[in-house]
Amino acid sequence: MNKQEFNRGLADFIDASPTPFHAAQNLLKIFIEAGFEVLQESDVWSIRKEGSYVLTRNQSSLIAFQIGKTPVEEDGLRMVGAHTDSPCLRLKPSPITEERGYIRLGVEVYGGVLLNPWFDRDLSLAGRVTLKKSDGTLSSRLINFVSPIAFIPSLAIHLDREANTKRSINAQTMLPPLVGLASNNPLDIVQLLEKELKRKKQFRRGDKILDFELSLYDVQPVSLLGLDDCFISGARLDNLLSCYTGAISMTASRTGRAKLLVCNDHEEVGSGSLAGARGNFLRSVIARLSGKEETQARMLSRSLLVSTDNAHGVHPNFPEKHDQHHGPILNKGPVVKVNNNQAYATNSESASILQAMASGARVKLQSFVSRSDVACGSTIGPLTATELGVRTVDVGVPTFGMHSIREMAGSNDAWELQKLLKVFYQTNQLQVSAE
Ligand code: ZN
Repeated sequence: MNKQEFNRGLADFIDASPTPFHAAQNLLKIFIEAGFEVLQESDVWSIRKEGSYVLTRNQSSLIAFQIGKTPVEEDGLRMVGAHTDSPCLRLKPSPITEERGYIRLGVEVYGGVLLNPWFDRDLSLAGRVTLKKSDGTLSSRLINFVSPIAFIPSLAIHLDREANTKRSINAQTMLPPLVGLASNNPLDIVQLLEKELKRKKQFRRGDKILDFELSLYDVQPVSLLGLDDCFISGARLDNLLSCYTGAISMTASRTGRAKLLVCNDHEEVGSGSLAGARGNFLRSVIARLSGKEETQARMLSRSLLVSTDNAHGVHPNFPEKHDQHHGPILNKGPVVKVNNNQAYATNSESASILQAMASGARVKLQSFVSRSDVACGSTIGPLTATELGVRTVDVGVPTFGMHSIREMAGSNDAWELQKLLKVFYQTNQLQVSAE
């Protein structure tokens, strides 16, 4: 696979993954195609030496792992982490409202959304629908309208002369998107979903929709842009870029070493859920693959987690927002993120292990620490390090417009991160001795 093919695959993956449910489903496909065996948490597992396995939880988080030749407690586990969710607008349970003859959808803000860019976009709807089948059993299925069905129009500058200097957004009153004109037949959300499922032949006679989790998304596909296609822009680069890069690195790396990829849902809202990094998904899988508590403790002491999530590139129009000596540039390589207050889990040892691998892979790294007078974000890195007691390094590609409906990165950085993670998945250099 060359860089162009990799970027094409990344774009297709993001476009086909408007929600964490779709992201987990598409990641699962990558692993199944690579020969991984699908496990269910509810089954008895018999994990074999050199076996490859994948499983999901809540249809929105995924763990893939491979067992190496050597016992895991002697080999350690090479772990990469990322998250499947992105800030967005989610539908409320009774979303349909009418105002002045228009039909609108009530929305709830999910995560730290940059709201302004959601105006004047062609929006579609996707997510998960749970229904009762005619035999009385319950079943969930994914739904994606694909075509644009909603729009949040801006208020004209003539009606808001201060729009460019003082605009603030009330999420309750200003965000409901328009989906049509009211008629004598009031729109029913359940009927709308039924119609869409029927059109895709996912709905049978006797099925009854009981509930749904739906998000709005921008239908504009990912683009390569700039002179020489040096940039990539699209929705959900945070953090589907890392999910895809992790999956490709793992399936392309040589077998023989114990390795794992975890992609968690709910990072953008604090990770506290059954599928989030504060939940027990990863801990439970690790306990099942390593067996006894002592084996597990020995394995984790020899392991490393590379927590991959995007970083802030220094924006040339706002250079003062970065520390003068720590401003990552797009296309100059993945960024090691440091925060001594542990918003990132990097320390000198985990960063050194990564640097040693980067020089072996001929990948250049940059570093990021936020300005001392600006708070920084966080990742699943510190949460997982706390939960498992595993040495961790936070790394990610530099981007602009994080949490906008459309974000931007360099078209070379994900490829470089992929090279680095591939080397990581094959390395036997995870130890640092204390002298
Ligand atoms: Zn993120």
